[in-house]
This record gives sequence, structure tokens and C-alpha cells, in this order.
Amino acid sequence: MNEETFVEKVKDLGYILSEQQIKQFKIYCDFLTEYNKHCNLTAIKTENEIYLKHFYDSLMILKYKKFNNEKIIDIGSGAGFPGVPIKIICPDIDLICLDANGKKTQFLKLLKEKLNIDFDVVNVRAEDYAQRNRELFNYVVTRAVSSMPILCELTIPIIKVGGELIAYKGASSEDTGEYAASILGAEIKNIYEDKLPFENAKRTFICIQKKCQTDPIFPRRYEKILKKPLQNLEK
Ligand code: SAM
Repeated sequence: MNEETFVEKVKDLGYILSEQQIKQFKIYCDFLTEYNKHCNLTAIKTENEIYLKHFYDSLMILKYKKFNNEKIIDIGSGAGFPGVPIKIICPDIDLICLDANGKKTQFLKLLKEKLNIDFDVVNVRAEDYAQRNRELFNYVVTRAVSSMPILCELTIPIIKVGGELIAYKGASSEDTGEYAASILGAEIKNIYEDKLPFENAKRTFICIQKKCQTDPIFPRRYEKILKKPLQNLEK
């Protein structure tokens, strides 16, 4: 997807990009390409791929959800996906990009300066962050980080009651996190299924809404989460 087609496709999502926003995506693409030459951040390398598989893929959720002034955290943000493209399009959101990998958060800090936009970057493991930051966010967004039962345990504790976890997934066959969500005080609100244009690769957005406060015993230690994820083994 080249820049021109990207602008057209974003129009179909309901957003007309300004000259400044188009420039910000171009700066992001060039900086990611350049940085990736000496520091391996992403396997997606060509400009057309970055516009399709990183930028447009991050924004597809805007077909189903509109963001305004909400407090949003991108867990396992990597090189900024999906949080930073959403921030470019919805500048009024209050965004944090969190990642355990210092190489990635260093890139995000530099990116923030290049784009001249304001978001916070946190270098910490999600389970440690969730111990100290309870019920704070309207939305958690997350792409390609972990399975749903693990993601639920890492993220639902930090979401406000009424807020949502939005997990970007490929095909929809895996555990949707329904059981884990029920243990953590949340439930599935919507599952949107879509396809990435041109490639027709399947995309699923699992939206889980928090209904009541999460028991402070969650999240457990990471080894325990991995060893015994919140899965209904009777099913
Ligand atoms: N979300 C980005 C994307 O879609 O391009 C990056 C995906 S990358 C495959 C997974 C990222 O999640 C890595 O940057 C990794 O460091 C981060 N990650 C995995 N587990 C994490 C945890 N428990 N806490 C914080 N970051 C984590």
C-alpha cells in the first residue's frame, strides 16, 4: 500500500488526513526504515509493507471504535503499534506506550521527538506495571504480544471499570479470553472480524469490557501466569 492509497483507505475509516498527519506518517516510515538497518525492530521493512501491515493495520479498529480524550495504554508496543498511528489520527488521546524491551522504548522516545507529538514511553514489564497502576485506563490496546488468557491477566487490572481491552489478533480460532476475563471482573463485549486490504489476511479485534474491580491477587508472578494461565480446562 503506497502513501496515496493509505490516505484513501483511511478516508474509508472516516478520517481525512491533514498535510501534517500525512507528513508524520512519512517521517515515521522513514525513521523506522533507517533505524531498522542497525537495530532489528521489525521484520516488516519496505515502505509499502509498513503503510499496510503497520500503519493501516493499527488503524483498522477505528472502523468500530472512536477515540477522543481517553487514557489509552499500548501494552507491548514494540516500534509503536498500534498506539502511535492511533495517536497521530486522534491527537487528543492521552497515550502511554509500554514495552519491556529497552531497545524498543529507546526508539519510541526518539520517534516522539521526530514526530513532535506527546505520549509517554514506559520501559517495564506489564505484570510489574500492573501491580502499581490499578484501574487507570479507559482502553488497553495490544497487538501480537501474547495469548488471550495471559493478556487478560496482564491488562485487565489496569483498566477502569467500564473501560476495555482491545486485542488485535489474526484468525479468530484461539481462546478468546472469556474465562480469564470472567475471573478478572470483565466480559467479552464485541469480537470484530475483518480482512486486511489487498492481502485479505484475517484480522480479529477482541474487545473485553471491565465490569468490576479486579481482585488484587492479579496479576500473579509471570512464571505462574505462564505455568497456569487462566483457562477453563474443563472445556
Ligand atoms: N505491538 C507491536 C507490534 O504489533 O508490532 C510489537 C509486537 S512484538 C511481537 C511483542 C512486544 O511485546 C515486544 O516488543 C516485547 O518486548 C513486548 N512484550 C512481551 N511481553 C511483555 C511483557 N510482559 N511486558 C511488556 N512488554 C512485553
